[in-house]
Amino acid sequence: MKSAAPMFVLGLRDGILVGIDDVENGLSCGCVCPGCHSPLIARKGGRRAHHFAHKPGEDCGGGVETSIHMLAKDVLAKSRKIMLPSVTISLREGGGPWRVHGPQLVELDDVVLERRTGHIIPDVVCVADGRELFVEIAVTHPVEAAKVSTIREMGVSAIEVNLSNEDRASSKQHIEAIIVNGTNLKKWLFHSPTAVLERELRGKVEALPLTDRGLATHADNCPLPAREWRGKPYANVMWDCPGCIWSVDMDSEYQYCAGRHARPSLEKRGMKPEWHYLES
Ligand SMILES: [Zn+2]
Repeated sequence: MKSAAPMFVLGLRDGILVGIDDVENGLSCGCVCPGCHSPLIARKGGRRAHHFAHKPGEDCGGGVETSIHMLAKDVLAKSRKIMLPSVTISLREGGGPWRVHGPQLVELDDVVLERRTGHIIPDVVCVADGRELFVEIAVTHPVEAAKVSTIREMGVSAIEVNLSNEDRASSKQHIEAIIVNGTNLKKWLFHSPTAVLERELRGKVEALPLTDRGLATHADNCPLPAREWRGKPYANVMWDCPGCIWSVDMDSEYQYCAGRHARPSLEKRGMKPEWHYLES
């Protein structure tokens, strides 16, 4: 039994999800498992937190996951909105991200549970502004890598809500609040508009060749410019580039710089770098 997962606190009664706090103890709770539809026993009392259990030998293993997917669908359909996490882009693999915008509350036009879409079945499919948004709920394990790459190939924006560590206080209201308004347990698996922008901006990063000048290594044609020598702009890559917001990366031959070509696009969109940098 996995302990670091939400407790089984949601059962189906007359086709409606109910919380463990809203039912009677034992079999008289009148609930069935959302996964396998066998009768559930409400275990209220004893030392463990209140939870549902299958009858001995009947545990389908999928009750918690299915119930939380259903809850997510229900609460999103009811609230018609979802808080989405910050959007960032990166101009290099694993590089410091640029903040596109902070968390945003988005209105939803439609919400559907586990509908096959292409080759995958997203946990919940939302529609906002005519576009699909997949909401994946990680209950016992994170979304599989294969599913994430399929989502990327489909070009559909998707978030993951990570409930796998919510082993305590996982009441119905608590989980609902995380799904609708939370930000810190959510992350983008793929953000479609940003992926397009990222490709565009990566194409605008300039490779400034490095030149060794005695004790210093310089990148000529620094767009700021950080320094000038007889009218020629350059940067000292040890001193100027590491703290520069336009510096994307460096290897043994080049300083990769967004300052000349990507900067206008970034500034026009009001993007700010997320990492700490020094003003030059
Ligand atoms: Zn079951």
